[in-house]
Amino acid sequence: MDFLLTEEQKAIKEAAREFAEKEFPKYAEECDREEKFPFELWKKAAELGFIGMYIPEEYGGQGLGILDFCLVVEEFWRVDAGLGMILSTTFGSEMIMLFGTEKQKKKYLPPLARGEKICCACFTEPQAGSDIAAVRTRAVKDGDEYVINGTKMFITNGSIADYYIVLARTNPNPPKRHEGLSVFIVEKGTPGLEARKLTNKLGIRASDTAEVVFKDVRVPEENLIGKEGDGFRQAMEFFNLTRIHVAFQAVGLAQGAFELALEYAKNREVFEKKLVDFQMTREKLAKMRTEIEAARLLAIQAALVADKTGSPDPGLTAMAKYYAAKIAQRVVYEAQQLYGGYGFMGDQAISRMYRDVRILEIYEGTREIELEVIARSILGRVPSRLKILRRHPLM
Ligand SMILES: Cc1cc2nc3c(=O)[nH]c(=O)nc-3n(C[C@H](O)[C@H](O)[C@H](O)COP(=O)(O)OP(=O)(O)OC[C@H]3O[C@@H](n4cnc5c(N)ncnc54)[C@H](O)[C@@H]3O)c2cc1C
Repeated sequence: MDFLLTEEQKAIKEAAREFAEKEFPKYAEECDREEKFPFELWKKAAELGFIGMYIPEEYGGQGLGILDFCLVVEEFWRVDAGLGMILSTTFGSEMIMLFGTEKQKKKYLPPLARGEKICCACFTEPQAGSDIAAVRTRAVKDGDEYVINGTKMFITNGSIADYYIVLARTNPNPPKRHEGLSVFIVEKGTPGLEARKLTNKLGIRASDTAEVVFKDVRVPEENLIGKEGDGFRQAMEFFNLTRIHVAFQAVGLAQGAFELALEYAKNREVFEKKLVDFQMTREKLAKMRTEIEAARLLAIQAALVADKTGSPDPGLTAMAKYYAAKIAQRVVYEAQQLYGGYGFMGDQAISRMYRDVRILEIYEGTREIELEVIARSILGRVPSRLKILRRHPLM
């Protein structure tokens, strides 16, 4: 797939691979076992410029494109999904970048780009996941402030974040149910903001996940992102972008599992032959490799469209996430199968991958929601795309 990449992109990919291969093995197992966020590793990644790479230069980032960033995501997830999850996102910052005021961008983006602050995005609620129009968290205007009340569920970085991007209902009786939602920035330490870390996750255990509660949390009106009532549309545009990242997470994880399985099959002896010399094994490996390549191509296409037009294509993005996540499940399953009983033991990277891979068909749109978006795009029922990004400077 190298022919699709510029020399600069190849160098970014190489640097990310080198960093992940050198640093991740020191943390991966312990952070998974202890469900621990590796702040030390986060700091190292920030120093090397891997955090907030896509934040524009005028706000302290490197102003890199979607594909540039996704290549790092792929390389990080290839080595470890939990650590990749942590380091390859300042999840939520995209909302400020896409829809924030100049003042918000100047205040919030530079510390995020430097890795000094951590962000999170609070959409999901106990009764509102796939159906985010069912959000009940309320934001009520009171003078020049908004008062926020509600509970958010499964929030990545929720118990360690400095900035909370929050989707809340500003109009309780809108003409249509997806109207009347708005997005706010809430800073850590604001009275009434509480987070409870959720433990014992199946996978990506190094990544922090929390329930976040807002009890009469007051924010100044200048913390509203974009226009009041525009929250649902903003969330959809946000997911159109971040789903591309997830497609690359899946490609990276599948690639990592494939490489482990290949190495294992080359060395494992059964029936006085190497495992790799059996036709059934070779078929498995051939299918895995082909499917990963196809998923990668689709993911690159989704990223390139976003970079070239400044506007991610919702149907294409959903296809990339749906397909790559599906392939990752299959590849990891088959890779673990090749390990036999050893793949069933918890101390093997492949068994960690087996747990990690499940998240890819759940967050940022479940498999079923991606299929629904694809179907809508086929039927022409996806709202028109907005130009929300700057085109990549080199395209
Ligand atoms: C580790 C982790 C991290 C997360 N991080 C974040 C985060 O940072 N911020 C955030 O806001 N959320 C986050 N989430 C939440 C995640 O996005 C939701 O769990 C997801 O959107 C699904 O919502 P739900 O869990 O409420 O399931 P539901 O929406 O209740 O879905 C249950 C099942 O019904 C299916 N379903 C739903 N609607 C349809 C339909 N129309 N047709 C057919 N099937 C349907 C779903 O596909 C699923 O299989 C995270 C979740 C996890 C597990």
